[in-house]
Amino acid sequence: MNQGGWSCPHDVEGMCDIIHKECDPGDRGCVLYGKAKFSCEDSPSNEAFEKRMERKMREMLGDDTKA
Ligand code: SF4
Repeated sequence: MNQGGWSCPHDVEGMCDIIHKECDPGDRGCVLYGKAKFSCEDSPSNEAFEKRMERKMREMLGDDTKA
C-alpha cells in the first residue's frame, strides 16, 4: 500500500517482504509499528506508540518509576 509521498522499501507490488502478507502499515512486524500513530483507531501501532511516548517522556523527566 502506498498512500501519499512515502513509499516503503519493503513493499513489493503491495506485498510486504517482512511480514509476508499484504502491506498493512502499522501492523505488528511493520517497520512503522510503534513509531507512528495512525488515524485508523484499531491500528496495533497506536497502543505501542503511546507506550513508547510515555516511556520517552519518563526518561526525559528523569522519572524512572514505572506507572
Ligand atoms: S507492512 Fe510496513 S514494512 Fe511492510 S511493506 Fe508495508 S509499510 Fe513497509
